[in-house]
Amino acid sequence: MFHAEIIAIGSELLTPFRSDTNSLWLTAELNALGIEVRCKTTVGDDELFLEETLRDALRKSPLVITTGGLGPTEDDITRKVVARVMQRPLVLHPELLDRIRRQFADRGLTMPPNNERQALVPRDAEPLNNDYGTAPGLILREGDRMLVVLPGPPREMRPMFTAYVRPKLEPLAGAVRLRTRMLRVAGMGESQVDSLIAPIYTRYTNPTTTILINNTEVEVHFTAKAASDAEADALLDDLVGQVEEALGANVFSHRGETLEQVVGLRLAVRGYTIATAESCTGGLIAKRLTDVPGSSKYFREGVVAYANETKTRLLGVPAELLARQGAVSAEVAEAMAAGVKARAGTTIGVGVTGIAGPDGGTEDKPVGLVYVGVAGDFVVTHRKFILPGDRDRIRHLASQVALDLVRRTFLL
Ligand code: AMP
Ligand code: MG
Repeated sequence: MFHAEIIAIGSELLTPFRSDTNSLWLTAELNALGIEVRCKTTVGDDELFLEETLRDALRKSPLVITTGGLGPTEDDITRKVVARVMQRPLVLHPELLDRIRRQFADRGLTMPPNNERQALVPRDAEPLNNDYGTAPGLILREGDRMLVVLPGPPREMRPMFTAYVRPKLEPLAGAVRLRTRMLRVAGMGESQVDSLIAPIYTRYTNPTTTILINNTEVEVHFTAKAASDAEADALLDDLVGQVEEALGANVFSHRGETLEQVVGLRLAVRGYTIATAESCTGGLIAKRLTDVPGSSKYFREGVVAYANETKTRLLGVPAELLARQGAVSAEVAEAMAAGVKARAGTTIGVGVTGIAGPDGGTEDKPVGLVYVGVAGDFVVTHRKFILPGDRDRIRHLASQVALDLVRRTFLL
């Protein structure tokens, strides 16, 4: 398999304030072309380090892609260092200069003298037009090696790669196509998922299967290699179909959608509306539901009812019930769900009450104890959970299990 390496250039990428997202994006693109990324490096705006990194990369990899450091200022050193490493003098490219000048003129500006540098190109390098900025990219070839030099800003780098680089890589990549698929699972732990599906996926070496934990969800990733996209898709269909069958309703997402997107989509399709009554999650469920664009179609209102008195006043939870069962109880979760449904006049109400910690736990009611109630026109029900982790994690998990209970009860 043809392989590549990526060098992300920029001192800001070595600080905690900026992440190198270009490499991740490029890796996905290259993988889809059947090109494996064997190494990626992040290097600051430092001539010596960049020079060493470039030489080393060109020795190891037939394809090297850099991003960043092509700007017009003194700390943008990529062009200069590439010319030195490839032993090619920088020459002024008159058409590029014209183009950059025109880009400024189109916006009613005069080109600052600094930008002239961006028209300097190592001899015999092929410049790549930048349709979204001034810094052109470069392709240099030396024997069977190829060096692709791209700008740092993702909104310039991505379209440049797609328009001018990918078509050149397609023939190099050879016969292998890589296709991926992902299932997201709720209501099961990683090892539970694995013990259920390992007997299926271990019979296959292609596609490969990986189980990952992402925040509160288990994700199952599949990658297939084949001579064409269609063949790779057929391999995926076969294995993923069997895994889906085994996991049943625990799978909530097939195309990378979030749980709130899936719940939202299904509410919208059925013409249902929903309202939330939250205690320990403090509005997180309402927040997640309304993260989805278009959620006004189905989300009516959310009540954050932290105090007992509020549960009674806003949700009609009987004070006597609160006194008898305690605020963290199945009965109160159901009463909150039914209360908010009645108040908002929605199809579905969901209520959550629990102990997020770190304090407030007792032997009977430990930290992590959460009750979720759901109410529909014909059903009011609840589930009890004991969720692990610190306050933050318990609250997030509580929002997850609540959305999942809505899905399982009303939306399958
Ligand atoms: P440049 O002038 O080409 O060095 O890059 C300028 C802008 O692009 C800066 O705002 C950077 O933070 C951003 N940028 C550069 N490299 C990357 C990268 N690898 N991933 C994400 N953003 C980047
Ligand atoms: Mg930079």
